[in-house]
Amino acid sequence: MTKFLNSKLFRYLSIFLLLNTVILPVKSSSSLAAWALQSNGILDLRTKSNTNLKAYFQKANRIYGDRFWVDFPGELKNPRIIKGNGPIKEIRLGKPMSGKTRMVIEFKEKTNLKPLTWKMVGLDQNTWRIKLFTPNAPFKKIGEGVVEKKKQNIKTNKKSIYIKETANNFLKLPNIKQNKFFVVIDPGHGGPDPGAIGIGGIRETDIVLEVSKLVKDLLSDKGVKVMLTRKNEVDLDLPPRVSFANKMDADVFVSIHANASRGKRRDINGLETFYFRGWRGRLLAKRIQKQILRVSPGSPDRGVKQGRFYVIKNTKMPAVLVEIGFLTGRLDARRLEKAAHRKRIAYAISKGILEYLSKLG
Ligand SMILES: [Zn+2]
Repeated sequence: MTKFLNSKLFRYLSIFLLLNTVILPVKSSSSLAAWALQSNGILDLRTKSNTNLKAYFQKANRIYGDRFWVDFPGELKNPRIIKGNGPIKEIRLGKPMSGKTRMVIEFKEKTNLKPLTWKMVGLDQNTWRIKLFTPNAPFKKIGEGVVEKKKQNIKTNKKSIYIKETANNFLKLPNIKQNKFFVVIDPGHGGPDPGAIGIGGIRETDIVLEVSKLVKDLLSDKGVKVMLTRKNEVDLDLPPRVSFANKMDADVFVSIHANASRGKRRDINGLETFYFRGWRGRLLAKRIQKQILRVSPGSPDRGVKQGRFYVIKNTKMPAVLVEIGFLTGRLDARRLEKAAHRKRIAYAISKGILEYLSKLG
């Protein structure tokens, strides 16, 4: 399965691997005890003794800025997001899987990081230090004295904003088997065919291309191999979209579109997902439809339907065509013109696809 070897493997840079003997039992509490990102760009970590840490760096993509993260044994009780300042966008403390704690430091867009020069140094059995950046403007220290205590005990950064887990629930995508699946995403229309034109001239081709690219990044991040039928504004007929997916022997084909109502009625809004045949196609459509509805409150559920569209009729693998809203509808158009909503839709479609793939094992 070498063709599924993901470029993700090469984007990770294991900056330092610390060898230690004691591995804590899975259900122990987080071995991260305290941390501080100092005003000089140095990150200090305090852990339980003999903790086995792993640190990673990943370059920015369309979803995230540059990210540095450290994995600790032991599970964190209350995942949280702490707002950054200066070059730091935010710091996230989470549990990527049960029994683990992950600290992610996400940088803002324009930072000039040199991860190749980074070294995490163990100062003694339970303190670690790494210089991440040199501030060129004043940077306010961010940190927590006692990681597992309640929020109000955190003194070092009073301006921290804690976002409730539930508010960002849609951001959580399920994990699936890495490098196993291959998905083709088909952004509808393109080139001389702009698709639907909505309120204020909003164009289907632009919206669906952006959403498709986001979906590609999100799925790639989960170890799924993804290809787009088009990457820019090109004229692409329907048959080559289908033959591409068939030739590549994709596991899943998802065509992304936005709707327009006849007579451009502003009162018509809603989301719908089509499949052509088979329980797999139907299951995929149901998963995606459920997720896109969750991020589009108030927008009608037009349902999961059988459709005879060329791209889903002629593809060999489970295939769906998803309509992410009406560009001519007042409610949907106002949403779809916002980048934040397009991102939410991309998360939702990705989640639906991942849920489907995880069902398949
Ligand atoms: Zn369309």
